[in-house]
Amino acid sequence: MTIINFQCKKCDTEFDCKTGEILFGDILSFEKEIICPKCGKLDKDEIALTELGQTRIGEIYISEENSVKQSILDLCDEEGTGFEAINDLDRSAFLPILFGIEEAIYLSYKKDSSLEDSKIIESLKKLRDNIFSDNTDYNDSENAIINKIKRVLELNSFSKRDVLLSISKVLNSVKLHRSTGGKKGYLSFISGFFNQLKTKKEEY
Ligand SMILES: [Zn+2]
Repeated sequence: MTIINFQCKKCDTEFDCKTGEILFGDILSFEKEIICPKCGKLDKDEIALTELGQTRIGEIYISEENSVKQSILDLCDEEGTGFEAINDLDRSAFLPILFGIEEAIYLSYKKDSSLEDSKIIESLKKLRDNIFSDNTDYNDSENAIINKIKRVLELNSFSKRDVLLSISKVLNSVKLHRSTGGKKGYLSFISGFFNQLKTKKEEY
C-alpha cells in the first residue's frame, strides 16, 4: 500500500493519502482519489508534494526504474512451474502472472475508456511474439503489461514457457469474451471482476 504525504494548495494542510498505483508520465497520476481532510477530493492542480512526499515518490521511481532495466528474459527461471499447459488443475500455479496481466489491462482501460478488445488482442499477440526480444516498440498499455510481468517475475519463479502460456491464456480469454460479449466483452468482464475485488478489499 503506497501512502504519500501531500499538501493541499487550497488550505495548506499536510496529509497522508493512499495513492494506489502511481503512473509516472509527464505529470504524476494516481490510481486513487487524493482527498484533503478539510477540502475533500482534490484536482491534480490542487495538490502539492511535501518534501516527505517527494522523497517517497523518488524512492518508488528508482525501484521501478531498476526493475524496468532488467529484461524479462533475465527475470525468468529455468524451471518455473514445470507445467506444459494451463488447465483447471494447474491454473493456480499461474495465478500471479495471469492476475498481473489482467490487472495491467484493467488499469489501462480505466485510464483510456476508448480501448476495445480488438486492441488488447493485438497487443497480446505482439507481446507473445516479441516479449523476449529487446527491439520492439510498445505502446503505453503494452509497456504496462510488461512492467507488471517483470514485477511478478521478481517475486515468483516462472520460466519463459510459463510467461508465453500465460499471455496465450489471457489472449484466449479475451477472444472468448469478445465473441460472446461484443467489442468490449472482455474489458467489461475484467472491469466487473476488479471492481468487485476492490469493494471487497475496502470492506475489511
Ligand atoms: Zn485542503
